Amino acid sequence: MTTEQSTPRVALVTGASRGIGRAIATALAASGHAVCVNYRTQADAAQEVVDTIAKAGGRAVAIRGDVSKREDVDALFRQVQESLGAVTVLVNNAGITRDTLLLRLSDDDWDAVLDTNLRGAFMCTKAAVRSMIKARWGRVINISSIVGLMGNPGQANYAAAKAGMIGFTRAVAREVANRGVTVNAVAPGYIATDITEDLPAELKAKVLEAIPAGRFGEPEDVADVVAFLASDSSRYITGQVLNVDGGFVTA
Ligand code: NAP
Repeated sequence: MTTEQSTPRVALVTGASRGIGRAIATALAASGHAVCVNYRTQADAAQEVVDTIAKAGGRAVAIRGDVSKREDVDALFRQVQESLGAVTVLVNNAGITRDTLLLRLSDDDWDAVLDTNLRGAFMCTKAAVRSMIKARWGRVINISSIVGLMGNPGQANYAAAKAGMIGFTRAVAREVANRGVTVNAVAPGYIATDITEDLPAELKAKVLEAIPAGRFGEPEDVADVVAFLASDSSRYITGQVLNVDGGFVTA
């Protein structure tokens, strides 16, 4: 039996003003979703994403909100509901890094990364899933990282948050699978965005050597996979982690 969603599709993409989130928002708009472009600080960049979507004939709104803050998350979901309707596709993409070796890692840098990347995903998912269950259709897509699978020196906080997202994905997937709601994670490898731009050149060259596809990823490589997971075509896939990494991790 297949269940196709009939109500309008409303996608909330957290952290969609730049990078991977921007590409995801654009791809979901192109596949017919009304899109909320969430951002934390860069209002102009978020508005540019909205304008680009509108120019292509799509529908989008930019809404500010820090996903690590309870009051911001509540306000974000209220505003999406008022402007577009109930969220049917949630992409937990907002993420930050505060890289340093464990012995130098401060409590603040631990908390900042866990609060945005993991607690933010928890709060947004909880807010979205209620109406998805009621509608008996929904998609939650968590943007994790291959660092959450492999670990990486200097990223204990980020690796813990991204691994946490994978456990969270698997647990919630099992809770809501019989309600037409799927919950999956995407684990990007090295994707060319602001987050990776500042890495030292020697490190970039070393990473490139280890990517079987022979190139870094583009945000669109991730966005296309998210668009598939957001669609009816992925209806029997839940609790999974899809690596989008050019073959970097194969186990
Ligand atoms: P990016 O270019 O640095 O963009 C980060 C986005 O997240 C921005 O839109 C930023 O908003 C938003 N953001 C940050 N903190 C937020 C908060 N507290 N609340 C709401 N929005 C917030 O990052 P990216 O490379 O596109 O990464 C996107 C996601 O993919 C992250 O979860 C990252 O961990 C993951 N990822 C990236 C790579 C990679 O190689 N790039 C690899 C694996 C996983 P403002 O513009 O307003 O600051």
